[in-house]
Amino acid sequence: MLIDDLSAALPADRLVRDPDVVRSFAHDEAEWAPYAQPAVVVRPHTAEEVQAVVRACVAHRAPLVTRGAGTGLSGGANAVDGCVVLVTDRLTAVKEINELERYAVVEPGVVNDDLRAACAEHGLWYPPDPASSPWSTIGGNVATNAGGVCCVKYGVTRDYVLGLQVVTGTGELVRLGRRTAKGVAGYDLTGLMVGSEGTLGVVTEVTVRLRPARAAERTVAGYFDTTVAAGRAAAAADRIWAGSPGAVVRTLLVDFASLASVRAAARRLHDEYDHLDLLVNNVGGFRVRYAVTEDGFESTMAVNHLGPFAFTGLVLDLLTRTAGSRVVTMGSNGHRQGTIDPADLDPEPGPAYRFMAAYNRAKLANLLFAHELARRLRAAGSPAIAVAGHPGLARTEGGREMNSLIRAALNPKVNPLALALSQSAAKGALGPLRAATDPNARGGDYFGPRGRTGYPELVTSSTLSHDDRLRRRLWEASEHLTDVTYLPIHESEASS
Ligand SMILES: Cc1cc2nc3c(=O)[nH]c(=O)nc-3n(C[C@H](O)[C@H](O)[C@H](O)COP(=O)(O)OP(=O)(O)OC[C@H]3O[C@@H](n4cnc5c(N)ncnc54)[C@H](O)[C@@H]3O)c2cc1C
Repeated sequence: MLIDDLSAALPADRLVRDPDVVRSFAHDEAEWAPYAQPAVVVRPHTAEEVQAVVRACVAHRAPLVTRGAGTGLSGGANAVDGCVVLVTDRLTAVKEINELERYAVVEPGVVNDDLRAACAEHGLWYPPDPASSPWSTIGGNVATNAGGVCCVKYGVTRDYVLGLQVVTGTGELVRLGRRTAKGVAGYDLTGLMVGSEGTLGVVTEVTVRLRPARAAERTVAGYFDTTVAAGRAAAAADRIWAGSPGAVVRTLLVDFASLASVRAAARRLHDEYDHLDLLVNNVGGFRVRYAVTEDGFESTMAVNHLGPFAFTGLVLDLLTRTAGSRVVTMGSNGHRQGTIDPADLDPEPGPAYRFMAAYNRAKLANLLFAHELARRLRAAGSPAIAVAGHPGLARTEGGREMNSLIRAALNPKVNPLALALSQSAAKGALGPLRAATDPNARGGDYFGPRGRTGYPELVTSSTLSHDDRLRRRLWEASEHLTDVTYLPIHESEASS
């Protein structure tokens, strides 16, 4: 009998016959796929014991199903009636990690994450990362050619398997593949085994290629309103990389509605950089409904002015020690309708709130800030300049909180006149872009379309935005509210 032969060939503890325990090995995560009760479950400890199991199955013409951790989703490890289920959970040795030649030799029952952790101790990395990596085994990964999120950049399991030791369907123990970096001769039997889901043999050892460990990982979470917007952001990063090979595009998240976030971002910038060439405070947004930030500020003023004011002040030392550096503030045509009393930046709280008035006020604050910063930098003899830009009336997501009527009016698909009234977001970006890059720009310059649409020119901001007294009063109020003092160009040190 099959079980007698298995008992004779293997130590007693290798066989599992308790029907309840055996039942728990009857299927993988694909419960929907057909499965049946195995005759017996075996847990071999060596490749030779695997050979003994295969030979017993051949002699008795019994089906053999190999199982790793049973995380498969396609029923590949599901038992057929009367089969032997061979589980690799006792074959868990990491036999070798070769730092010089960057490979590892492991038994098939090693869990993916355990291999990755072992490699990390040697400064090496095994990239394939199926989402099941905390549980699934390398043998199962090889048999299914598993891949995870890293596969897009680094490849799947197949790209890392150099060689295998396999017990064939006739019970022979064979070696396939290589350990060397180059191996070109002969049939690619290793490649044939990868992804064969246990149908060609039982993998008893795997040699995988490793990579040097990567620099500390940084996870960036971006929040987008639509998947299309997220895709556009990823594409924009790709275009930067393509246009500037070797460029490092890093994201530093800052929430201008929170002074704590502003301070944390400024700290991180200081931790990582000792100078700053360009700061574009590309903020232009409003809340349709009245809202107060965690710091107690009206949110449109906080996000457009107080947050950027604080951030600029906190990183000013990086700017003022960089020759040719520049701060760009985002203005808007709306500033021309704005009025402001620095003693009360929230004059219409609650139900009295009018979002356009709040927006225009914040944009006037932006222009007052840009001119005052330009003056102070000049007076302090700083190499940095402060300029401003505006986009005209651009069709961006900025108005997403507005009512559907206004949004429809600005949507060219709904209102053909919208094309004449406004311009694309890409064209709108040219104003601030020119402010950021124009080699002839001088402190206090303001770039944007002359009206709602058009290419950026050097334009003049409102008379009020140049009001000397108003500029100074807003500056003082902003320093007081944010508790950020512009030390390198503090008024006492800067002669006007
Ligand atoms: C939550 C979850 C997330 C998952 N995420 C991913 C993912 O991101 N990417 C992905 O590719 N898969 C994923 N899977 C599927 C599954 O995890 C993989 O297929 C994994 O490689 C299976 O490994 P395992 O050790 O669990 O193998 P099992 O499920 O036990 O077996 C899978 C197949 O491999 C064969 N096999 C196992 N060991 C051997 C061996 N030593 N020799 C020969 N054949 C063998 C089995 O017979 C079976 O056909 C996920 C599954 C779950 C449950």
